[in-house]
Amino acid sequence: MTETVRDGALDLLLGGVCVGCGRPGRLVCPVCLAELPEGAAPAWPTPTPAGLVEPWAASAYAGTVRAMVLGLKERGLLGLASPLARLLAAAVACDLPRGRPVVLVPVPSRPATVRARGHDPTHTITARAARGLTRGGLDVEVRRLLRQRSGVLDQAGLDAAGRAVNLSGSMRVSETAVRRSRLRLRRVRLVVCDDVLTTGSTAREAQRALEEAGLEVIRVATVAATRRRDRADTAPGTTPGTTPGLWSS
Ligand SMILES: [Zn+2]
Repeated sequence: MTETVRDGALDLLLGGVCVGCGRPGRLVCPVCLAELPEGAAPAWPTPTPAGLVEPWAASAYAGTVRAMVLGLKERGLLGLASPLARLLAAAVACDLPRGRPVVLVPVPSRPATVRARGHDPTHTITARAARGLTRGGLDVEVRRLLRQRSGVLDQAGLDAAGRAVNLSGSMRVSETAVRRSRLRLRRVRLVVCDDVLTTGSTAREAQRALEEAGLEVIRVATVAATRRRDRADTAPGTTPGTTPGLWSS
């Protein structure tokens, strides 16, 4: 059976269409899959929150990647988790100096949001990214170290200043989780992981909470970053770095 016929049959069975181009079949068709970026690049937001560690993103938040993020987050299309995890893994590992073990810390979602969606997409793709990177030889694990305090509003609709105020002091570290995994003793390097980097204030708040708990945060990694409004030509993906040896299978 040719790929097209098989995808057509799958579409009849499952009602699937590519989130990128609408072609019947897989959630991401082979054509759109082949067009996804392979590397990642630094993606500084403008303005940059003071003290933010270097944020890396695999893609601009647009087109197929944006449709993938929304498909997993809003429609629960779990088949999108793997391709999204590959993008996140590139943002974690691209040009990462070799050395001490790496711990990926997913940005926590609001508990009410997780309940409403029935899943936590950020944790899902972070866990899958870690599995792929482990297969690629990186000493990496995932720890849900962050908790969100109550009273935090949905960020959508808030501007950069509003987001920063809303998020200030909104996260705390689970001291039990830190002690249990002996993270300070092992001198691990932390990477804050999220799906989309917008103003950077969520990532900065996660970094603040982790650093106040005595942990070392070395970068922020996201699937995608919103384009800078003033310099759209420098959106991530235009000068990708490399991830040698990863995802080579
Ligand atoms: Zn497609």
